[in-house]
Amino acid sequence: MNIYHDDVFQMACDQFEVIADYLTIDKNDRDRLMYPKRSVAVTLPVHMDDGSTQTFQGYRVQHHLTLGPTKGGTRFAPSLSMGETAALAMWMSWKCALANLPYGGAKGGIACDPTKLSRRELEAVSRRYMQEMIPFVGPHTDIMGPDMGTNEQVMAWFMDTYSMYTGYTVNEIVTGKPVTVGGTEGRREATGRGVVYLIDRAMSMLKMNPEKSTAIIQGFGNVGAVAALALAMKSGVKITGISDAYVAIFEPKGIDVQAAEQHVMKKGNLRGFMEQAHIAPGEMLVQKCDILAPCAVDRVITDKNADKLQCRIIAEGANGPTTPEADLILNQRWDEVFVIPDILCNAGGVIVSYFEWVQGLQAFLWTETEVADKLYRIMEHSFAQVIKRAKQDKVSHRTAAMAIGVERVMKAKKTRGLFP
Ligand code: GLU
Repeated sequence: MNIYHDDVFQMACDQFEVIADYLTIDKNDRDRLMYPKRSVAVTLPVHMDDGSTQTFQGYRVQHHLTLGPTKGGTRFAPSLSMGETAALAMWMSWKCALANLPYGGAKGGIACDPTKLSRRELEAVSRRYMQEMIPFVGPHTDIMGPDMGTNEQVMAWFMDTYSMYTGYTVNEIVTGKPVTVGGTEGRREATGRGVVYLIDRAMSMLKMNPEKSTAIIQGFGNVGAVAALALAMKSGVKITGISDAYVAIFEPKGIDVQAAEQHVMKKGNLRGFMEQAHIAPGEMLVQKCDILAPCAVDRVITDKNADKLQCRIIAEGANGPTTPEADLILNQRWDEVFVIPDILCNAGGVIVSYFEWVQGLQAFLWTETEVADKLYRIMEHSFAQVIKRAKQDKVSHRTAAMAIGVERVMKAKKTRGLFP
């Protein structure tokens, strides 16, 4: 399966094998569960502002179609590859199944740096990508959503491009749209809110006092910034570390997260904010804190730093922030470090995307309170199931969470049977 050859895909496969061994899944059934059902690569020629034509590579991976259409984000990042997209699609499958959503996992994106494109170029790249994907997606086949490097505006362009093709508005083709064009209330905040709901839940389980707790949050985008603000303003936690792709800031006396947010709104990133407290990004992760929330990229907790982490809770807002080697170390430290694994911790985004899709299909309009209540109900149920399974089988939270997801997909595949 060379088209997926990539370190991140290997990591997702290694994680799957651990679960397959634990669930004693027959060797005959493993590849069928693990490999993506469909993958598409497209070339996107785009007119650039300087008059040149640049070609970009785009991908979409639909991991399995067993439980319904596939669902997943669209990532714009320079290093994106088919293998990484496939890994992210596989994680979406286990995430959706754990939350009991009627979806298989998907992921897609474009190998590009959105910060280096003008607004016109970004629109052209986005529209051309959706146009190339029209034969492969649909509200009952594969529904796109946002991910790293994309936002509500990009989702609106996707929806508009698809709708221009059909000749009528198809809201339910994409989630994470602006509320003004069929998006749902509460989608933008959903992932961060879900992360904070579970951190609060873990703190109360561990009898920690939020007002005496500190948090370091890696990533200051749609997930990290929302989580940092909610932790500081609602839960009363002191934020001592924040970072983005450019700088990391560590200040034991506490960081004014609202001021950081305003700085980012004005300047575009954290450069120039609290310069006296800048620290090497890798150093920030190993500082003493109660809550460590990696909310940026994959593979930041590795066998090099897992034994040095000085936190009580790890809340994985990012996808794949912890490598399987680091997991082995964290498993040894299970009574010191409470891990809220990614497919549980960051599921808020896709859960509210599901609500947006349902509202689009039915022409419903739910209020922000309705959306948040329904989100917390699902998060609570998933959390309780993971904790119960981990205790019962004496396995890590990650193993428990993934096992619940993999089992659901496996059972559905068995019940539907193999055709012909
Ligand atoms: N990008 C989100 C995730 O990784 C989900 C995107 C969506 O809403 O489909 O979970």
